[in-house]
Amino acid sequence: MATPGSVLIGLTGGIGTGKSRVAELLRALGAAVECSDTIVRELQARGGAGLAAIVEAFGRDYLTPDGELDRPKLGKLVFNDPSARGRLNVLIHPLVTRETQMRIEAHRARGVAVIVADIPLLLEGKQAGIGSGAVLPFDAIVLVYATEAQQLERVMARDKLSREDALSRIRSQLPIEQKRALADVVIDNSGAWEAAEKQVRELYAAWLKRAQRPPSA
Ligand code: ADP
Repeated sequence: MATPGSVLIGLTGGIGTGKSRVAELLRALGAAVECSDTIVRELQARGGAGLAAIVEAFGRDYLTPDGELDRPKLGKLVFNDPSARGRLNVLIHPLVTRETQMRIEAHRARGVAVIVADIPLLLEGKQAGIGSGAVLPFDAIVLVYATEAQQLERVMARDKLSREDALSRIRSQLPIEQKRALADVVIDNSGAWEAAEKQVRELYAAWLKRAQRPPSA
């Protein structure tokens, strides 16, 4: 009898396209979802390997009096100093990738059929050859798509941002049309949510089937 396997999905989007909502639905359907933003936060929490690495590289000046990461201060440094940003990336990316790999392996060992790595900048990382997007062996890279005009509208509403601030966040990422061309699968969330939900349910069912197939088939 064939041993059931698992599929590893790389889930990405552009800010405001609906990736978080899709990730939530996949989790509700039974997928194991690991979010790289959450992993970064955990690694940078007190006692985390990421925080220790930051202190070693940048000093205790970047800690609050409580010993937490002083995010605004570190943010200011890396925003204004590209070489510091590069140093921070070189420190953090390998830790995040290793932690993500370990969690994926644990899900595989538990027999989870569909494992999803939710990585906002997956395609940017893949293009630059850095981070989990470049390293993890995805069976498919899935993009949640909405038009740039919809990204703008949704980000302004969700984050209470001015048009200018929302646009600058959107434009700091690879344009959504370019991402669309790079993905293996596109979930079109440019219409009603119910239409996207239907696509997600169909994809999940197909992945479940694929996971149960013997590797040689
Ligand atoms: P992301 O994680 O890609 O930044 P979210 O999942 O947070 O995006 O969605 C961005 C915002 O758009 C949220 O407020 C969400 O409720 C809303 N949204 C998501 N899908 C749709 C849709 N199909 N129609 C209208 N609003 C949507």
